[in-house]
Amino acid sequence: MTGIDDLPIRDELRGKSPYGAPQLDVPVRLNTNENPYPLPEPLVRRIGERVSEAARHLNRYPDRDAVELRTELARYLTRTTGHEVGRAGVWAANGSNEVIQQLLQTFGGPGRTAIGFEPSYSMHALISRSTGTGWISGPRHDDFTIDVDAAVRAIGERKPDVVFICSPNNPTGTAVDAGTVLALYEAAQAAKPSLVVVDEAYGEFSHHPSLLPLIEGRPNMVLSRTMSKAFGAAGLRLGYLAADPAVVDAVQLVRLPYHLSAVAQATALAALEHTDTLLGYVEQLKAERDRLVTELRAIGCEVTESDANFVQFGLPHSLKGRGDAPTVDAHEVWQGLLDRGVLVRDNGVPGRLRVTAGTPEENDAFLDAVRDLMKELNR
Ligand code: PMP
Repeated sequence: MTGIDDLPIRDELRGKSPYGAPQLDVPVRLNTNENPYPLPEPLVRRIGERVSEAARHLNRYPDRDAVELRTELARYLTRTTGHEVGRAGVWAANGSNEVIQQLLQTFGGPGRTAIGFEPSYSMHALISRSTGTGWISGPRHDDFTIDVDAAVRAIGERKPDVVFICSPNNPTGTAVDAGTVLALYEAAQAAKPSLVVVDEAYGEFSHHPSLLPLIEGRPNMVLSRTMSKAFGAAGLRLGYLAADPAVVDAVQLVRLPYHLSAVAQATALAALEHTDTLLGYVEQLKAERDRLVTELRAIGCEVTESDANFVQFGLPHSLKGRGDAPTVDAHEVWQGLLDRGVLVRDNGVPGRLRVTAGTPEENDAFLDAVRDLMKELNR
């Protein structure tokens, strides 16, 4: 049987694994930071209308520049952050993963490097690799905040072409303050200058205001966002960026012609008409996220402060692992929760797992499973 390694693929892809969060059929799925609430019926109906209208013109290519959609995204950002953004400074693609890919195709590539501060969103490294961009793993403190001095040093020494700052950070939930972003931006400009990408995929869930205003007067800073989380539309595949209009012009050099289908544009526009309802769900999820933090701490878990729609946690160090293991390991906990019908995420952070905030019922089921597992491990 032919395997990947028998094919003449690029050397740097040999032995690598694809991105693959398990998609398992279990009662409680809290592993991919999806929004647990289905889109409300009035919005589903509006999508039907908008998509039907788009279907009448599917013999034609879609609006290549997605003008109406970018106008509405700019309006959404302006309204929710208080920072004025225009259509020329907004760009949209199939998920923020594609936004990141287009940025790396434009600003990274062979002979260039990107840095991120790990643990962080694994696709920053994976898309860097797939675009031929060298990856540099930057440091964090033990509490998962960015070690600013070490980060500034790493940027000065390694002179990366792209700097990723994920805020709130996946998988830790950690928000990055404006001072840190500015210190890293200044270091990156002095070293190269390089492009600083602030990935705010979970921005709407934060206790803190958006970092969007920082792009003002900083043409080498980009803020990336998505409709996968706050808009509850992961299946839509719609991500976007806000930056100086010159950055939007630059990514047009690499984007595929007509990359954003007319169906996707119509669906996203319908969702933007229902922003207030969808942001109401975000408020509920924020409250549930805070409840998860409080209740996990009350149980005795190690919990990282979260500004996202998920929580990073570890079982108490006092628990013994099975057999000779001195402490319980994360994968064992992951399996124990799965055995109880709850799927969470093992991101490879030692001793930690990540749980997405679900509906109150799903979160109760998760907390019950944690309590039950701890009882078993205490025995
Ligand atoms: N950035 C971060 C930090 C993420 O966690 C994710 C998805 N999990 C993305 C970007 C990509 O999301 P999408 O492509 O669905 O917009």
